[in-house]
Amino acid sequence: MIDPKTVSNILNELGEDREDYFNAIAPPIMQTSNFAFKKVDDFRDALENESSRYLYSRGINPTVQILSQKLAALDCAEDCLVFNSGAAAIFTCVFANIKSGDHIISVEKPYTWAQKMFNNVLPRFNVSVTYVDGRNIENFEKAIQPNTTLIYLESPNSWSFYLQDLAAVAKLARSKKIITICDNSYCTPLYQRPIQLGIDLTLQSATKYINGHSDVVAGVLSGTKAMVKKIFSSEYMNMGIGTTPFNAWLLIRGLRTLQVRLTRISETTQIIVNYLKSHEEVEDLTFPFDKDFPQYDLAKKQMDGACGLFSFYVKTDSIKKIELFCESLQHIIMAVSWGGYESLIMPNCASIKEEDFDASNKEQRKLRMYVGLEDPQYIIEDLERGFAAMK
Ligand SMILES: *Cc1c(COP(=O)(O)O)cnc(C)c1O
Repeated sequence: MIDPKTVSNILNELGEDREDYFNAIAPPIMQTSNFAFKKVDDFRDALENESSRYLYSRGINPTVQILSQKLAALDCAEDCLVFNSGAAAIFTCVFANIKSGDHIISVEKPYTWAQKMFNNVLPRFNVSVTYVDGRNIENFEKAIQPNTTLIYLESPNSWSFYLQDLAAVAKLARSKKIITICDNSYCTPLYQRPIQLGIDLTLQSATKYINGHSDVVAGVLSGTKAMVKKIFSSEYMNMGIGTTPFNAWLLIRGLRTLQVRLTRISETTQIIVNYLKSHEEVEDLTFPFDKDFPQYDLAKKQMDGACGLFSFYVKTDSIKKIELFCESLQHIIMAVSWGGYESLIMPNCASIKEEDFDASNKEQRKLRMYVGLEDPQYIIEDLERGFAAMK
């Protein structure tokens, strides 16, 4: 558990030198592309040390700096970079740690764009990938080849909710000098800190809980000073994929309420999970902090919380009934993503053609739900509406 007082200190004070900007409570949006120098010697120093000095906003920008100090501290990491999407953070940290001929081990079904990178982009550079069921540490051991340089994790997986034992994978990888990366979008650093468990690089989509208001796309990548500096000086600067000062400002604003939002969402989620589990139209439910979850013990061991994302399976033999359920909802919104104020739903059958629907395959009757910040009863009444429409 990260001390709640430390979290408050990070959110309120870290990186905020208010006397530098008229003692304003809220930090300024430093909307500038470049920075001025009075002395050649000073200019020379900035050119040599672009990763730590204000020179040009594709590199370091003051508003982004305030945010990145906070995010690194929350991750218990030495340093971090903030990207203009979570996908950019994923692409950059993988790309920065491979060369032609390397082999990667990834958990099966990682986030869509991680998978597309592994399947479509990396083979062009002679980098191969083996997908493993990450629930069993032996699967990682068996997949290691002499040219394996990277293990890519996502725990819990945001679709299957499968976990990996992060400390065990980190220990195995260290013994073979393999770098580990973990997508921590599901938990945020408040509920899981992969770096403390020995993982080298942790990343998350800040679009989700960090920003928390469905209005910014961003990503975070944290690690040691040396690893972050290496990525900054190459891929990050080459591709120009840092977040903008305005988005950094919105992210700082979102961060202020991260603790209170996650607490509220966790409480409401437990209420909704209990409601759905006892509903006769629900066959099953997958949520890492549910006692019946197969990896419940591991979840309790390595996570401090589980937030608002889970899936449930409705009992029906008709795709139309699932469509009726979703389309009759008046509050819960049908959409991808999660982490904002609004509760969301995403039916698995949205990616299945009607003629291919097979009710005997439970996965096709799956609905992924995100519980937002609304009143729990408001959400339950809407779910009731959905179930009534299925009748
Ligand atoms: C959304 C998401 C991403 C990608 O983040 P973007 O900010 O949308 O680019 C990566 N991993 C997981 C688990 C996600 O849910």
